[in-house]
Amino acid sequence: MDLLDTLIDKGLRRELPTRAEALAVLGTSDDDLLDVVAAAGKVRRHWFGRRVKLNYLVNLKSGLCPEDCSYCSQRLGSKAEILTYTWLKPDEAAAAAEAGVVGGAKRVCLVASGRGPTGRDVERVADTIAAIKKQNEDVEICACLGLLSDGQAARLREAGAYAYSHNLNTAEAMYADICTTHEFTDRVGTVRQTKAAGLSACSGLIAGMGESDTDLVNVVFALRELDVDSVPVNFLIPFDGTPMAKEWALTPQRCLRILAMVRFVCPDVEVRLAGGREIHLRTLQPLALYVVNSIFLGDYLTSEGQAGQADLDMIGDAGFEVEGTGTNTLPEHRRGVRASTADDACEPGTGASGGDRTGRPPGSARADLVAVRRRGTGTDLPPNA
Ligand code: SF4
Repeated sequence: MDLLDTLIDKGLRRELPTRAEALAVLGTSDDDLLDVVAAAGKVRRHWFGRRVKLNYLVNLKSGLCPEDCSYCSQRLGSKAEILTYTWLKPDEAAAAAEAGVVGGAKRVCLVASGRGPTGRDVERVADTIAAIKKQNEDVEICACLGLLSDGQAARLREAGAYAYSHNLNTAEAMYADICTTHEFTDRVGTVRQTKAAGLSACSGLIAGMGESDTDLVNVVFALRELDVDSVPVNFLIPFDGTPMAKEWALTPQRCLRILAMVRFVCPDVEVRLAGGREIHLRTLQPLALYVVNSIFLGDYLTSEGQAGQADLDMIGDAGFEVEGTGTNTLPEHRRGVRASTADDACEPGTGASGGDRTGRPPGSARADLVAVRRRGTGTDLPPNA
């Protein structure tokens, strides 16, 4: 297929595809799906070999958010029956992080609900980073605390954070449809602040919120323009009790096409398969490893993922290897970025997927697959890692 040859060629040269090419990936048919995955796999292999980086989420503060992001179980007015708790103490967070590191994670993501941190919150997180580093000096810490104010990114870096994560989530044109309490430009501003402070910028998207193919391409192009180091790709987890509880438009095939498009547009960045992989990719999860080079281990913030051991088995069975702490995730040309700045109306693709042998129409609701997190941080039960 000429399209895929062109995209491989551009991906190996870090050349930006055209928007039409990116849209065409989303429009490929199921007959071409394996060719699309194989083409994205060539680009992935060129930049990241067969390595899979594991990331581990620690939810420092769960629920009770004043913002109204409609995809989020922690939003203002959410009726989702999630765990709610306020800030974990540094030693509690360090114990939670340790479970992930023992499970093979090289990055720990410290996440807190809320519009953004206060100065006191940033100091709590600084203490938490210190507690984690005391146990595991080499672990990469990524903070994800919402919109940042002046000086907070620098303080987090000084405290030992390696990265800061703040998703753009969706295209600017659609942002007001998913959130009214802050704007797309606020999110872009925080990503820029993190880069300016010398933190590695992590920012991604959520697919499956009713966006068009053009919206998806636009948000991924916006991420490429921001030149972020890692791009988490979430597939909406339609929680009961949120406005998007009935949004089940994704199919495993569409998820793979979206991941491939992200890989072609952002060929040399850490593309991370994030929330929703189990419920939307289902048995096709291993195919995604040919496209992404990073996943979360175990559970998500408010929902349960598959068992951590199942993640490790999947990686091994598919012929990939867990990336160790001694290996740089990013290609050499990207590693200098941080040093040199030292000072979450659907048009599900034209390639409609066919029905399946379960008798369910494509993208049919599978609320039975969404499990609210009831173990690990904030509970008395051991974490899944
Ligand atoms: S995504 Fe973040 S800011 Fe938005 S409602 Fe959820 S916790 Fe709050």
